[in-house]
Amino acid sequence: MTLQDINNRIREAEAKAGRNQGETTLIAVSKVQPNERVEAILEEGHRVFGENRVQEAAGKWPQFREAFDDIELHIIGPLQTNKARQAMELAQAIHTLDRPKLATTFARIAQEMGSCPDLFIQVNTGEEPQKAGVLPADADSFIAESIALDLPVKGLMCIPPVGEEPSLHFALLRKIAARNGLKGLSMGMSGDFERAVALGATHVRVGSAIFGDRVPPAG
Ligand SMILES: *Cc1c(COP(=O)(O)O)cnc(C)c1O
Repeated sequence: MTLQDINNRIREAEAKAGRNQGETTLIAVSKVQPNERVEAILEEGHRVFGENRVQEAAGKWPQFREAFDDIELHIIGPLQTNKARQAMELAQAIHTLDRPKLATTFARIAQEMGSCPDLFIQVNTGEEPQKAGVLPADADSFIAESIALDLPVKGLMCIPPVGEEPSLHFALLRKIAARNGLKGLSMGMSGDFERAVALGATHVRVGSAIFGDRVPPAG
């Protein structure tokens, strides 16, 4: 699909749901994509991108920023505490705040930097042991804790379990956000972004539908 197709489908899903046009931000997930593909999307005028590894993001986005203005980079993958500073320096948003240690680390570094990227708290809506994110039952207290640290928490993020109806997870995420007064909802990927838009996504993270299949890294 072209970038234009994806944008059209997002606008149609917004209209169907009675939402305002343009309320949903498309994050083009460029992880593991060759630079030429990313450049092509930049040339088309798109500026919002997602990467799930800090290392990889640091290896390619500084150059793209030299060539293109106003790039907005979102870190969407699990984050080790020792990568927090690098992530905060690189990105305008981080979607994977998921534990107290990371929250206190962000708070300390934000104080030193005098700024902090927008933050989303990842919720493990499917309660999968291998997946990052706070459990739904712990979400309210962790959100409160993070806000008490003065962190700019904009919303919540989830990755539904493979093989389950994602809408149930999107609805749960929306409910947790609403009762905590959070507006941002980072949910929906290539296979389900229209369902996410229908349930109020403010950010959809779409990779393969835009770029084509991810080329496995060499080695
Ligand atoms: C890779 C990735 C995506 C994009 O997945 P696609 O199915 O290629 O759209 C979205 N969110 C996260 C957290 C990812 O790691």
